[in-house]
Amino acid sequence: MRILLVEDESGLVDALKAIFTKENYCVDALMDGVSGLDYALTGIYDVIILDIMLPKRNGLEVLKELRKAQIETPVLMLTAKSELEDKIAGLDCGADDYLTKPFQTGELLARVRAMTRRKGEITSQDLSFGDLNLKKRTREIHCDSASVKLGLKEFVLLETLMLNPKQIISKEQLIEKVWGFDSEAEYNNVEVYVSFVRKKIIFVGSAVQIKVNRGIGYYLEMTESE
Ligand code: CA
Repeated sequence: MRILLVEDESGLVDALKAIFTKENYCVDALMDGVSGLDYALTGIYDVIILDIMLPKRNGLEVLKELRKAQIETPVLMLTAKSELEDKIAGLDCGADDYLTKPFQTGELLARVRAMTRRKGEITSQDLSFGDLNLKKRTREIHCDSASVKLGLKEFVLLETLMLNPKQIISKEQLIEKVWGFDSEAEYNNVEVYVSFVRKKIIFVGSAVQIKVNRGIGYYLEMTESE
């Protein structure tokens, strides 16, 4: 599990990093809303912990941008303000949960565990890119009337690319998403699974291609019809 922490109080960042690391989570911490949003838009995180009062862009703006970009990573809002209006504003922006400072670390860990369990339901809608549709519940890709089921790793790989249609996804990101950050997956595992997914995309007759940008990563492209 990989957590993105966007929080500008360095003491709290250090404390939370230590707590999550001890619980075997991998944590990336950013201290302002602009860089936090950049990281969040990669879509590789399992949970995002987002402070509201942040430099450059506040947490509610970051959350709005994220949901607009169809990044559905569960978001736990943190804030020193406990007013009801803030809670409502945060939930309206697409936050999944809310915790006011100061909080017990046990409470935070429990909320994060609950959010990662709920993730499957939160991201249950289907995805599409060009003429290709991915049904999340059944793990099938469709194009016109043709369809084929993907294996779980193939599904996570294609889902990661479809959730980030305008970005190049690095092999490292795919490994983290598909195999987990503590796995021993090698780079050529990614290539093998990309080739499986490519064959299935061709099988359903879609014009979508998984392109490779050597040294950077993979992205989806709709090929021009000839
Ligand atoms: Ca703050």
